[in-house]
Amino acid sequence: MRPIIPDYLAEVLSGVEPDTSGALADYIPQLAAADPERLGAAFAMLDGAVYGAGDIDIEFTIQSISKPFIYALALSDRGFGPVLAKVGVEPSGEAFNEISLESDTGRPLNPMINAGAITAHSLAGAEGLAPADRVERVVDGLSAFAGRRLTVDESVCASEMEHAHRNLAIAHMLRSHDILTEDPRAVVDGYTRQCSVLVTTRDLAMMAATLANRGTNPLSGEQVVSETVVRQVLSVMFSCGMYDAAGDWATQVGIPAKSGVAGGLIGALPGQIGMATFSPRLDRHGNSVRGVSLFERFSSDMGLHVMEVPATGRAVVRSHHVVGSGPNALRVLELQGGIGFAGAERAIQEAMAIPPGDIRVALDLTRVHAIDDVARRVLLEVARRLTLTGHEVYLIDPESVMPDPDPGDGGRITVVDTVEYADLQATEAAQGQGG
Ligand code: GLN
Repeated sequence: MRPIIPDYLAEVLSGVEPDTSGALADYIPQLAAADPERLGAAFAMLDGAVYGAGDIDIEFTIQSISKPFIYALALSDRGFGPVLAKVGVEPSGEAFNEISLESDTGRPLNPMINAGAITAHSLAGAEGLAPADRVERVVDGLSAFAGRRLTVDESVCASEMEHAHRNLAIAHMLRSHDILTEDPRAVVDGYTRQCSVLVTTRDLAMMAATLANRGTNPLSGEQVVSETVVRQVLSVMFSCGMYDAAGDWATQVGIPAKSGVAGGLIGALPGQIGMATFSPRLDRHGNSVRGVSLFERFSSDMGLHVMEVPATGRAVVRSHHVVGSGPNALRVLELQGGIGFAGAERAIQEAMAIPPGDIRVALDLTRVHAIDDVARRVLLEVARRLTLTGHEVYLIDPESVMPDPDPGDGGRITVVDTVEYADLQATEAAQGQGG
């Protein structure tokens, strides 16, 4: 069988290929020399599989796509408090290189515009690192996200530094507000190196997949940053990743994303996929023209918008019945699927309807494959309240999907593997009482 996804990607690429609108970024002379016809797209799945079509192994500079990853490193290395004190999370609706800071605090509005990204760069690594060591931390961190060793394109870096007046102006302004506490030039130099790291479309898809995969790189298995950091980063990408086109993007594409002026674009759909495209001509916001069209297609063809309401899953309560009769009768509440808050609420409703005289109650999780934390707490509270009202509660959980099944505070649960075993226990108890 011919593989389906690369065929799909090739077809979508040929659809956007005729569009030669937009222009190369020319404020960095080396970028103006890029081949404008390059075009590639890659998908990285969370098990490490990569699908691609077009120029997916050509290297180009990461530019602003580094911003969410360095923000992630800063949050990891310094903690949320110190980073949030210096960089906000509000969409600016402004161009990426706007010279603007929050009026009362002097903080950059968010880490996706240059002011915030330059500040985030200064917060990567331990406090007091020398600029060169910080660059090393940044390149190491980006490499861990990609799952391979990345390098800096010195010529693009030098070319940008020669014309970095605007970023220097931003950095000096940050220094005047004490948001930066060191030499502004050294920070801009480090930030420019960060932007000059070379990546391929394949690398970018894998970096996005690391975010989609709760911070664990699908290839290396390395947990690069924590889940909490990932949630913060994806939220900011969603609201600010596409600069002044963020609202259009959020409604039409609906995937946390980030663009770079060399023509790269990434999207990370939590729990599903990392995507990347490469096409160097940019629109007036500085986002790749063909990249934006590609993502619009991916999102609509595959229903990838994060606000898309998922098809209703199977009912969480599979059945509710009584096994046996008399004092040994066992009321079984059989649950199924993955249980989140709404599913747990269904279980509460069923449990409330259990007649007080039905002493023995089993929550059967045999067909449950996952329970999230809130559902776990709700089900344990159901068990606790049932115990307090005189019920004997069994948890049928042969695969231990419920971690630490302790209802606490007056609750009692007997964990068994099968309904039969719960039955047997009752019989033994009855016999014990008889003897
Ligand atoms: N290095 C570029 C800059 O700071 C990155 C901008 C971008 O990719 N949008 O201007």
